[in-house]
Amino acid sequence: MSRRTIEHACPACGNPQMDVFFEQRAIPTNSCLLLDTREEAEGFPRGDLELGFCHRCGFLSNVVFDAAEYSQRYEETQGFSKLFVEWAKGLAARWVDKYDLHGKRVLEIGCGKGEFLVWMVEAGAGHGIGIDPGVHPERIETTVAPDRLTWIKDFYSEDYSHLAADAVVCRHTLEHIHPVGEFMRMVRAAIGDRPGVRSDGWTSPTPPRPRRCEPSCSTSWTRTCTRPKRCTTSRSSIRAIRTRTHR
Ligand SMILES: [Zn+2]
Repeated sequence: MSRRTIEHACPACGNPQMDVFFEQRAIPTNSCLLLDTREEAEGFPRGDLELGFCHRCGFLSNVVFDAAEYSQRYEETQGFSKLFVEWAKGLAARWVDKYDLHGKRVLEIGCGKGEFLVWMVEAGAGHGIGIDPGVHPERIETTVAPDRLTWIKDFYSEDYSHLAADAVVCRHTLEHIHPVGEFMRMVRAAIGDRPGVRSDGWTSPTPPRPRRCEPSCSTSWTRTCTRPKRCTTSRSSIRAIRTRTHR
């Protein structure tokens, strides 16, 4: 298809125009739900994908995005992979050491099944608060005392801005949030400007690379930030300290 410029506000920086460069019709609106029957899978809701590029900040977004399901039946964990677990445990331990989080409180927005937060607490963080509509605390195996972990089955919102933490972590999550600029500003406001708060308190957006935005990945991968330092993070006064994906 040929590229075309449309009037569509970039979800990251608000630029009024985006360049649509790829279209795919009628693709499943989720790729991480475990369905019970073949009929349910074949009849799953479909939507259109029109990838738009923002020349101002480099953000990619599905400009006809509607909605996707994130619920208790959402299954995003990569914790069944021994290789992934080894990598993620090492990352959790490095962050606890590098940012001196020993005995401190960590808030993870979009914690998934909670493994990474548990590994940070196992590595020395004092307390972990995990927020995700798909978290299943009963699946989490750890020797960490239960009172050092708090699980909230919900989407992060201003309702949780009172949850103070020494570090705010958001991994593998931004690409699932459509109004990403608005979301980042909300998180930044919740962090506040208390004495001692560092502007790099936001750690690791770890966005998937643009090559993941393929038709087979469906609309759950419909917004990817190719240059996060130039858009959502910087525009929220939050500096990304690690933007490489693990892949
Ligand atoms: Zn933009």
